[in-house]
Amino acid sequence: MRKKIVAGNWKMHKNAEQTEDLLNELIAKMPTETDAQVIVAPTFVNLASAVDHLEFTNIDVAAQNVHQAEAGAFTGEISADMLKSVGVNTVILGHSERRAIFHETDALIANKVDTALEHDMTVIFCFGEELKDRQSKSHFNIVENQLKDGLFHIQANQWENVVLAYEPVWAIGTGETASPEQAQEMHEFIRQTVRTAFGIEIADNVSILYGGSVKPDNAKEIFSKPDVDGGLIGGAALKAEDFVAIVKAI
Ligand code: PEP
Repeated sequence: MRKKIVAGNWKMHKNAEQTEDLLNELIAKMPTETDAQVIVAPTFVNLASAVDHLEFTNIDVAAQNVHQAEAGAFTGEISADMLKSVGVNTVILGHSERRAIFHETDALIANKVDTALEHDMTVIFCFGEELKDRQSKSHFNIVENQLKDGLFHIQANQWENVVLAYEPVWAIGTGETASPEQAQEMHEFIRQTVRTAFGIEIADNVSILYGGSVKPDNAKEIFSKPDVDGGLIGGAALKAEDFVAIVKAI
């Protein structure tokens, strides 16, 4: 069934003590009765403590990345098995910062998707066009290709472990949000693209999150659109008050 989800991507922010402080604030302020699944994604080194800290709460923990290989000589990398071994069952893949700064291609992301799904992890699959793509009106093509090249090789039964996160690059960390209409237009297109390839049931059940400068004052309007099932939140996930307000907006 399609879920409402609000996920916070903490990126490379918060040391161990700051992580504990933010988690404590979130636990104190988070509504216990919410329809939404709430997820936080701290940095790798703080994942194990976050899982322990959140054990008896309604907040789940995700990783921000995973390596595609099972194990081996990959200095500095983290495997799916390692994540699972500390209780992390969800991973964000294909984030635009991984694509742009760390040169992750659709093919590499597809490999990571396979590894994560083989380990029964849930994948939050990020994708979205750059400003130049929207200006040249190729944004629908770009989004369709990212989906097809990074994700559409999976089997129908694997979709239950996939969440989509449409994040127009021009809206990430810029303070510029897609209008609710722009978000709905693209989410509808994404759902239609999934429907054409995998059928109506999968398309209706997959959650499609919007990401890009979601804040407490714009969340409600964006989340009110019929094909927007929640948000992937960057900057506003670092302040408990803002993140909780966004969860409440759903
Ligand atoms: C993100 O990095 O996924 C994101 C949406 O960031 P922000 O909310 O800061 O735009």
